[in-house]
Amino acid sequence: MSDPLKVLILSAEMVPFAKTGGLADVTGALPKALARLGDDVRVVLPRYGRMDPDRFGMMEAVPLFQVPMDDASEPVSILRTDTVPGVPVYFVNSEKYFNREGIYGYPDDGERFILYCRAALEMLRQLNWKPDIIHCNDWHTGIVPNWLKTSYKNDPFFADTATVFTIHNLQYQGLFGWRILEVAGIEEYGFLHHPQIGELADVVDLMARGIHFADVINTVSERYAQEVLTPEFGEKLDPLLRDRRDRLFGILNGVDFDEINPATDHYIAQNFDGEHLGARSANKLALQRDSNLPQDAPVPLIGMVSRLADQKGFDLLAGCFDSMMDCLPVQFVLLGTGDQHYHNVFSQYSQKYPGRVAIHLTFNAPLAQKIYAGSDMFLMPSRFEPCGLGQMISLRYGSIPIVRHTGGLADTIQDFDPRTRVGNGFSFERYNQIDLYTAVVRAVENYKHPDVWRLLQERGMRSDYSWTASARKYEDLYRQALQFRHRDGAAVQ
Ligand code: ADP
Repeated sequence: MSDPLKVLILSAEMVPFAKTGGLADVTGALPKALARLGDDVRVVLPRYGRMDPDRFGMMEAVPLFQVPMDDASEPVSILRTDTVPGVPVYFVNSEKYFNREGIYGYPDDGERFILYCRAALEMLRQLNWKPDIIHCNDWHTGIVPNWLKTSYKNDPFFADTATVFTIHNLQYQGLFGWRILEVAGIEEYGFLHHPQIGELADVVDLMARGIHFADVINTVSERYAQEVLTPEFGEKLDPLLRDRRDRLFGILNGVDFDEINPATDHYIAQNFDGEHLGARSANKLALQRDSNLPQDAPVPLIGMVSRLADQKGFDLLAGCFDSMMDCLPVQFVLLGTGDQHYHNVFSQYSQKYPGRVAIHLTFNAPLAQKIYAGSDMFLMPSRFEPCGLGQMISLRYGSIPIVRHTGGLADTIQDFDPRTRVGNGFSFERYNQIDLYTAVVRAVENYKHPDVWRLLQERGMRSDYSWTASARKYEDLYRQALQFRHRDGAAVQ
């Protein structure tokens, strides 16, 4: 057995404190799995205005102290909760930058997340807790590896600390002007330069900085780690990623099997498991009732729970939606928020197909669980998908995924072949309407055979996408980061 590791995880989101997407699920589950393996793992988040300190049992851990920012300093305090089993969670409390309703989308997002990161590092000094690893996630935390290799380079407190940078979604890079370098106190080092990425010469790309400076980098599926090396998926950073391919790994996310469990889920109408699939139908009827659809047990019900973004394939779906509704006897339930354009498009579809299409344009965690538990099929026609959690959750809830074969969807869903009976869902390769439509047709055809469908459901419910295996891989990654850190350090001296 290796020695336990001390790990600080930085993330803008974490279930149950703040969530807009899968990042929150990952930060909610990975630390618990690492703690179960014996590691000393702690998380630090911003304290957003809508978090209720009483609800989460937050106590002051570090009273007000000054954090360097720009050419002055900002007052912050640190709160802490012990409500997550085995994982202390800290919150950076700044009245000025985080006591607001939302999580992202403010004109000063750059300053906000620079302050959060700086406060997280300085908090460690206040607590006198030296982690082996600082695990950064997405652009909000990309400045941290940058600091450790520049302005904090000779700081003895961090002399033995390595950084891991996880890319959850390369599309959101955190782009800012020169000014943000001053805010971060690293203007003397200037813009990054890369011969094949001209943009980096006059923009601060925090995602690129995380990639450039971290001791190791990973994406959230093995397939996406390969895909981001190509211009198609690399979001202009593929040359930089190719430079660092010896440091780039892929680790598939898991889902939190304690929380995501149809046998114990408090939100759904009727609990069930793989041995009692018959009980599942009560959830379909409840979902139909709650969505104002006719309560019809046999009709195939297609569910979606998703951010309404181009990434998720909504342009494709919108393009073939009429054909789907005209030719297939299906009901459709969508839960999502995002682009106003798709709010409008799918609202119109719900009016056009009353009693067949239900649209919930909100963020609603209980309803999401009801859709996983009550739908027959779960649709994810993503253009790209770093990992995707929806397909893994739907497998666990007995709803059969229909996905595009990309990223983490390709790593988790094998197209079902009715002749050999191999496969656990329906998937299509090319990003076009006809292929999506055909995959839905195949799902609907197979649904007509209850024995086949039951086989698919049982197979999905048996598959193990819990965090245990992935947490071990993260431990290996952390150890690799430490090796690189020491090797690079030795090379410099
Ligand atoms: P992404 O992180 O790209 O949004 P993932 O599939 O990795 O996509 O994770 C999405 C997570 O967010 C899942 O847990 C899904 O159930 C949840 N989710 C997405 N939209 C909503 C919504 N409108 N209401 C509730 N949960 C949602």
